[in-house]
Amino acid sequence: MLISSIVRSTLGLKDHRVASTPLVGNELQIKLEPKKGRKLPCSICGKKAHPKGKLRERRWRYVSFWGITVFLYYCPRRIRCPEHGIKVEDIPWSTGKKPYSLPLITVLAFWARLLAWEELSSLRSLT
Ligand SMILES: [Zn+2]
Repeated sequence: MLISSIVRSTLGLKDHRVASTPLVGNELQIKLEPKKGRKLPCSICGKKAHPKGKLRERRWRYVSFWGITVFLYYCPRRIRCPEHGIKVEDIPWSTGKKPYSLPLITVLAFWARLLAWEELSSLRSLT
């Protein structure tokens, strides 16, 4: 429950929920789903529409918890935007096709300003 709360808070989830958080080996897999009946925003204009199918599952690296590697898993939904037609929803924790979540990018950007690259790359517990 605590992990779900942290993920919801750091990702700013409004239209999605944490479905499960299985620990597989040393990898925490956070499975996300859209909330039932919820409209999702268009990735172009942000107007909301009901989902019309889903794409294959994607995986994003998230900030590690106590040395445990964490990934987000989610099947992006297609929506029929009234202005742009069929589009993929805007995913709040993602930027384009990058495999890193926005919270992880934020953490790395913060440390990158303070540390030398060699030191940053050695901080495996952060990533
Ligand atoms: Zn649109």
